[in-house]
Amino acid sequence: MDKKIEIRCRNGHCNRLFMNYYVTGNDVELNLGGFELKCEKCKRVLRLKNYTEKLLMEQSVKGVFRV
Ligand SMILES: [Zn+2]
Repeated sequence: MDKKIEIRCRNGHCNRLFMNYYVTGNDVELNLGGFELKCEKCKRVLRLKNYTEKLLMEQSVKGVFRV
């Protein structure tokens, strides 16, 4: 399984790509709580807490997950 999920800025005018996630098929805890993402385009700063692969898959639309 090689499904890719794009993690992008939720700001509609921005839509910047933060990272690509490749689905492993295991419902892994992503442990992203320690990461801080900063959108260079619209200057939002955000932290991803308690994300799991399942949640990414459930809440992504057409392979895009917005944060
Ligand atoms: Zn942005």
